[in-house]
Amino acid sequence: MAHDWTIGGAVNDLTKEFTEAGLDTPRLDARILVGAAGNLEPSLLFARADRALSAEEATTVRAFAARRLKHEPVSRILGHREFWGLDFKLNAATLDPRPDTETLVSAALARKAQYPGPRRILDLGTGTGCILLAILSEWPEATGLGIDRAPQAVEGATDNAARLGLTPRAAFREGNWCDGLEERFDLIVSNPPYIALGEAAALSPDVVRFDPHPALFGGEDGLEAYRALIPAAKPRLQEGGLLLLEIGATQAEGVESLLVAAGFAPESRVFDLGGKTRVVTARFG
Ligand code: GLN
Repeated sequence: MAHDWTIGGAVNDLTKEFTEAGLDTPRLDARILVGAAGNLEPSLLFARADRALSAEEATTVRAFAARRLKHEPVSRILGHREFWGLDFKLNAATLDPRPDTETLVSAALARKAQYPGPRRILDLGTGTGCILLAILSEWPEATGLGIDRAPQAVEGATDNAARLGLTPRAAFREGNWCDGLEERFDLIVSNPPYIALGEAAALSPDVVRFDPHPALFGGEDGLEAYRALIPAAKPRLQEGGLLLLEIGATQAEGVESLLVAAGFAPESRVFDLGGKTRVVTARFG
């Protein structure tokens, strides 16, 4: 069958299988995976719909489909994800960047005019490096440091910086929050793990089976990482510096209490495109 399996036929077959399996976006997933297996730009899928897949391409399509049917996200199957219009490679230690996290990037970039001249940005729990690198891509005078406790994340973020041409302004290092850091930064950003353990059962299989659990779960109440990183971040901020934290939709008050307890002045809440509170900001002092 493989020798007369066309691009269009493969898209239709995968769409049907994905629909029957209850996946959320069956046709989109089918198009992306067939396009990648056939090395075709998405815009060429229709123009080439009658082209037969080679035996090798057909094998790749089958392998991709089998992985997707086990709920592996398309981004993990292909090994990369677009975030803030930039391409990021993923690996087993990195959270798959979420569109929601673009709220944090945009909140940081909104401060550019308040922080003229060369500025230093610290990203705690950097993962793919997507937050820091997206910020640096639009803030030419800024340089930054990303910290992650997973060595594989540090490797991945370093590679992403190189692929995006940002190596001269971005460094990545293994570490536990701010341990061992002596420098002070103008902005500290973080998207820490914040899902409460009890919510694991409610997560989509795409997330809970494939995102690294240390990047997802923040202990019993989801706030464990904030309890560690907020006091650790305080001495690492310049006077007048700003801490910007991604949070879960119901965590603004809990996180702001932790900020106040550590001596920060909570300053604003920022909503994501779905209308959920996604970022809180706080000043030092
Ligand atoms: N926002 C992610 C989700 O809801 C969680 C990432 C995190 O805990 N920082 O799946």
